[in-house]
Amino acid sequence: MSHLTDSSQRFLFDGVDVRGESVRIASALTDMLGNQAYSPTLKCLLGEFAAAAVLISNNLKYEGRIILQARSKQAVSLVMVECSSERHIRGIAQGDLSADADDPMTLLADGQLVLTVEREAGQRYQGIIALEGGTLASALEDYFSQSEQLGTRFWLASDGAHSAGLMLQQLPAQLADGEKRSEQWSTLCLLTETVQADELLDLTPEALLFKLYQEETVTVYPPAPILFKCRCSRERSADAISLLPESEREEILAEQGDITMTCELCGTTYQFGREILPPQSAGTTLH
Ligand SMILES: [Zn+2]
Repeated sequence: MSHLTDSSQRFLFDGVDVRGESVRIASALTDMLGNQAYSPTLKCLLGEFAAAAVLISNNLKYEGRIILQARSKQAVSLVMVECSSERHIRGIAQGDLSADADDPMTLLADGQLVLTVEREAGQRYQGIIALEGGTLASALEDYFSQSEQLGTRFWLASDGAHSAGLMLQQLPAQLADGEKRSEQWSTLCLLTETVQADELLDLTPEALLFKLYQEETVTVYPPAPILFKCRCSRERSADAISLLPESEREEILAEQGDITMTCELCGTTYQFGREILPPQSAGTTLH
């Protein structure tokens, strides 16, 4: 069943205006978490953020990415996971990386959840919601209830090595009968609320959907793979270094022989020599 790990799967219910998405992440999560020494709590937190980011990214109808981040003034100042329309994920936490808590969300207490949608073409949309306790799933549900007309629910779980999630979302109305529509939505939400974290993490998507929705006819679409992949590059690193004053770049080169930049998200180190200086001054001394 290894082909089913690290994948996202869409499902639809016959005759019901609701779509679902099921996600599980294993290797991509291990890869994402491997570059920093995170506490078990932070691994779980990042795992839930990763599952949520993938679920939300499935709403993207164009090339781009969503960035799900939480900022707080607590021990953990930032948790961020990004997922592209190709389901490439990367993420990071900043602050006290050894912070532990029984309830991971307490590490972000009184913080803000920020959801950014970036279109490859350049447009950017950002929404913010306060984190008022509760789970990441409930914070996202608050967010969606304020920004979308369509009901959206999340169920998320992570043990730090794996993460999994389910999302249900109402589709634009196909059924003329509004009462039946909201009744069907409520029924599916109630059925899904019976799900346990270990079932989300351990059952295959097919087994999980069968267990939850035995009475429904569910169409499951082929799994779409999820990969850990960073967007950093030598060019972007060079651009960042070029923001340093030229004299400072000269100084570092004189002292260390090169300028190196390590990406915090994937650990790749980029090394530059004198080519990082503007062409006219490369190889010359400053006056
Ligand atoms: Zn990177």
